[in-house]
Amino acid sequence: MDEFALIRRFFDRPIEDESIRLGIGDDAALVGPEPGRELVCAVDTIVAGTHYPQDLPPFDVGYRSVAINLSDIAAMGARPRWMTLALTIPNADTGWLSLFAEGLFTAASEANVSLIGGDTTRGETTVISIQLMGDVDPEKAIRRSGARPGDGIFVTGTPGDAAAGLSLLTGGSDQTGESEYLIGRFVRPTARVEFAASIASIASAAIDLSDGLYADLQKLLLSSKAGATLDVSRLPLSAEILAKFDYDDAVNFALGGGDDYELCFAASQCDDSEIDTLAKQNHLQVTRIGKVVAGDGIACRRDGETFKYTDPGYRHF
Ligand code: ADP
Ligand code: MG
Repeated sequence: MDEFALIRRFFDRPIEDESIRLGIGDDAALVGPEPGRELVCAVDTIVAGTHYPQDLPPFDVGYRSVAINLSDIAAMGARPRWMTLALTIPNADTGWLSLFAEGLFTAASEANVSLIGGDTTRGETTVISIQLMGDVDPEKAIRRSGARPGDGIFVTGTPGDAAAGLSLLTGGSDQTGESEYLIGRFVRPTARVEFAASIASIASAAIDLSDGLYADLQKLLLSSKAGATLDVSRLPLSAEILAKFDYDDAVNFALGGGDDYELCFAASQCDDSEIDTLAKQNHLQVTRIGKVVAGDGIACRRDGETFKYTDPGYRHF
């Protein structure tokens, strides 16, 4: 199958969104953002064997590659709309491609995102790069830099589950019960798009969790030129992670494990009840885990005592 037949067969699907003047098939796509809104762009690349196990089912690879990009757009409080796909694959395996495309379009249509272009190349390893574009009300984008001393620090969901799931997956665990749930959190993360947009006017800063809560919170604090206290005993740990791992291991997964694609955000004191209401409306667990303070770094406490945590923090280089 040549490159163009491949694109037509797997990626060129009818588009209904009228903001898209020209989709796949020309040198570039044309989109018309709504007047008065700002364009938000993010790109994320995943490499087989680095970001996910080589033998991950292709549907999940497709789903996950979109979800992790949705999460970046969500973390800005923005609405995801259009995406392009740069795909490098070792061969045109139609079985793999068709399931990959199913996963990719499933995640995209759940978020009302259309695929408007891309590039297809052959290479030794599968590399998937998705550029996601969205829009946001000017002045409403939630940046990393807005946290101020006194703000509360909140996290959505139960961080640590994805990293725990990945360790079960690579350890060859059977996929039943709690393991199925935890592995599912790695394989099909849920970007918190609606919730993030709903807190756009009350959150002072936000970041999505890709490298681990501790490392990502540290990035938010660096941008905000502030420090934080973090109450480790308040970390929301899922029943599933506690059923499969010791409490201390669960805490390490929650602080140091990546791939959760939950949201960590700061908001000023008075907004607790509002945050509660928005969490309920979005059927989402949202937990206050700490406080922004003057200075720098993260001081962890557990049961009222200093808790020493050394972050393993995944870095590519
Ligand atoms: P060009 O050579 O001008 O860059 P290509 O021949 O590479 O264009 O691609 C033809 C069309 O197919 C373009 O509109 C491009 O955006 C689209 N395309 C290529 N690969 C993909 C892909 N993996 N997913 C979606 N669209 C793609
Ligand atoms: Mg090209």
